[in-house]
Amino acid sequence: MNDRPNSLHALDRQSLVHPYTNLAVHQEVGPHVITGGEGIYVVDDQGKRYIEGLAGLFCAGLGFSEPRLVEAATRQLKTMPFYHSFAHKSTEPGIRLAEKLLEMAPVPMSKVFFAGSGSEANDTAIKLVWYYNNAVGRPEKKKIISRRKAYHGVTVATASLTGLPFNHRDFDLPIANILHTDCPHYWRFAEPGESEEDFATRLVSNLEAMILEEGPETVAAFFAEPVMVSGGVITPPKTYFEKLQAVLKKYDILLVADEVICGFGRTGNMFGSETYGLKPDMISCAKQLSAAYMPISALMINETISDVLLDQSRKIGTFSHGFTYGGHPVAAAVALEALTIYQEVDIVSHVRAVGPRFQEGIRKLGEHPLIGEARGVGLVAGLEFVKDKVTKENFPPAWQVANHAGKFATERGVLTRGLGDMVSLCPAMIISENEIDDLMARMQLALDDTLSWARSQGYI
Ligand code: PMP
Repeated sequence: MNDRPNSLHALDRQSLVHPYTNLAVHQEVGPHVITGGEGIYVVDDQGKRYIEGLAGLFCAGLGFSEPRLVEAATRQLKTMPFYHSFAHKSTEPGIRLAEKLLEMAPVPMSKVFFAGSGSEANDTAIKLVWYYNNAVGRPEKKKIISRRKAYHGVTVATASLTGLPFNHRDFDLPIANILHTDCPHYWRFAEPGESEEDFATRLVSNLEAMILEEGPETVAAFFAEPVMVSGGVITPPKTYFEKLQAVLKKYDILLVADEVICGFGRTGNMFGSETYGLKPDMISCAKQLSAAYMPISALMINETISDVLLDQSRKIGTFSHGFTYGGHPVAAAVALEALTIYQEVDIVSHVRAVGPRFQEGIRKLGEHPLIGEARGVGLVAGLEFVKDKVTKENFPPAWQVANHAGKFATERGVLTRGLGDMVSLCPAMIISENEIDDLMARMQLALDDTLSWARSQGYI
């Protein structure tokens, strides 16, 4: 160990495999070390302050300095730092958090299963879909459908559901029995002159054709994020979920709503399912569940599924699934406090109050020569970069235009990232109107910087 360098940056390069990072580039540029935070801002080890444009990873909904969350964690750490919930054991924070989630659920839900991450909650949902169909004597009904550009996680099964090629390529994914249907991105995929309603009808009839081709008796579940955030902040076209759910119902296919990003106020309702009229059988939540101060996720299940689980235990015994840290009492105590704060400060009303200013700001950025479409809802939005506003042609991926825009934003004091052709914004939900104006002004400068750079490269 003695020959190891002692600067933090050099140690990072030498020791860490960074998630979702170009590892070769990282060896050149090193880490960006974040050391502190206050409200919607974070500070790096050079003392530079930034607006956290993505609330970390779409998760720190109450910002970076909420004392009540720290106190909730400290209280629980002093009382009982860890206990599990296997084999009938339980802890008070887990019990109370489950109760609160069921009270807040957008549709009647019966029980809650806790895990540590969004991926684990969705992975559990996949296993429950299979377990449920085995239990009710339909072992052939196992296929699961998600959408191209969906994001549901990175475990073997959830990365398979994720509809992004770079999550499959080179990882030998997807696994069997996972199907991907159309992405409901109206601006990009609608035919010329097609209305949102007609686009929704076409996509849902494609879905029905897929179900019929596979055999409805083999299709078990459909996973959907109310807004597909990581795939490009894709809001559903009008009537899409209404038509989609009619088809799922017709063929007895379960709906799992992935509320990992949309949950807890982000879209201007407590759940994205309320904003877009989803009536799911299971709901996965994570991220803002604890305002990201502790890792925790939850899967809510309805009465039909919960009854089948119970019945199955009567027949075969133990329900053999669970994570050591599922419902960790410190994480549960923090999540319970976060949900209490959301209710006390009425975070939903705040998002509804400031959301229009945020969406106006983003749409104004959409007039920039580099942007094809600016879209979003509540306090989440994205900018799609195009080479040609009329033909909607994107830039060649090798030019890394959105990636450069992310870097210019960082220079202008906003942390966000280019992802494919997108730069997204999803700040802490406590953001004020003045802070929104500041964020948009900085992004305008970052877009102008990107344009100058693109011109200097001869791209424009
Ligand atoms: N579902 C959605 C909609 C997500 O956005 C994410 C993470 N961005 C996940 C699941 C996976 O969550 P985690 O990274 O906590 O495993």
